[in-house]
Amino acid sequence: MSYHRCILEPYHAGRRYSRCPGCGKDSYTLYVYAETGEYINETVGMCRRRNSCGYHLPPREYFTRLNDKKWKLRLRMQQQ
Ligand SMILES: [Zn+2]
Repeated sequence: MSYHRCILEPYHAGRRYSRCPGCGKDSYTLYVYAETGEYINETVGMCRRRNSCGYHLPPREYFTRLNDKKWKLRLRMQQQ
């Protein structure tokens, strides 16, 4: 899978905003795989409260980080 096929979840009836990992408000849109509509990761998304929160982790950055061993190591340490 590659970030080239990832899109922000399209708006459709009934879709709700998710809880933003940055500010905790329900103002968060997740990226999905365009083909399957599956979420990439709960951290990969964008907050629409651009001014007060500004959380945005694009798929490109997420996949870059996945390939970054140092970042992975840091992530693991945070989880412990
Ligand atoms: Zn936010």
